[in-house]
Amino acid sequence: MSGLLRFLLPLRCLGCGAHVADPSDGGSPPALCLDCRLRLRLPPAPRCPRCDLPRGTGRDRPVRCGRCDEWPEALERAVAGAALEPPADALVQALKYGGWRLAADVMARRMAPRLAAPGVPRPAVLVPVPTTARRRRRRGYNQARILADALARILDLEVVEALVRNPASSSQVALPADQRRANVSEAFEPGPEAHRIGAPFHTILVDDVLTTGATAVSATEVLSRLGARRVTAAAFARALPRPVGSSS
Ligand SMILES: [Zn+2]
Ligand SMILES: [Zn+2]
Repeated sequence: MSGLLRFLLPLRCLGCGAHVADPSDGGSPPALCLDCRLRLRLPPAPRCPRCDLPRGTGRDRPVRCGRCDEWPEALERAVAGAALEPPADALVQALKYGGWRLAADVMARRMAPRLAAPGVPRPAVLVPVPTTARRRRRRGYNQARILADALARILDLEVVEALVRNPASSSQVALPADQRRANVSEAFEPGPEAHRIGAPFHTILVDDVLTTGATAVSATEVLSRLGARRVTAAAFARALPRPVGSSS
């Protein structure tokens, strides 16, 4: 890392603010201190074997959750590298809103083991979930692309820009869940590298956060039309369902 970048980047853990040691090999400082890296945990087991949703039933064997039964057949599985809780949420925020691209390395390293063989067959390509053109202009990047690039380095796979946002689709953040599902139905269109999607490739859809899976379903519908037969949705963090009895 150059001296100027080193000067600009705080050597503080994104999770707890503690100083992180400057790596002796001259590499980038880690986004999280060791303690915070150890605090990252997978969504709690048992999880739905298809969509990774924690079941919270106390059963020792994983049972399908039922919510993912309506997913298109091509969307075989969703996996996440961590539960969306501290300090994972700090990484998501830092990458999405803070321009903290180094966070992507820690995030991708959490995702990679869940995508290693035999779970995801090869050959495979990585397809980042696109953001709107307006947000990409404002932020200067698509956080899912940064994450896909980091994963590509670890897994030795290629990143394919197979999707773009439908310019007419609006931002998801402020919408309740049912409107979100309706809103994403026309969210995507074939992108500049759509021709590189095809049946021989397992398609790994990369996003920072998995919430209901509606985004993955919508993207899979377009990928299927492009010839993809098998899609895995890979997210850094899985939003956990609210405990029973909590409001709204
Ligand atoms: Zn920390
Ligand atoms: Zn499920």
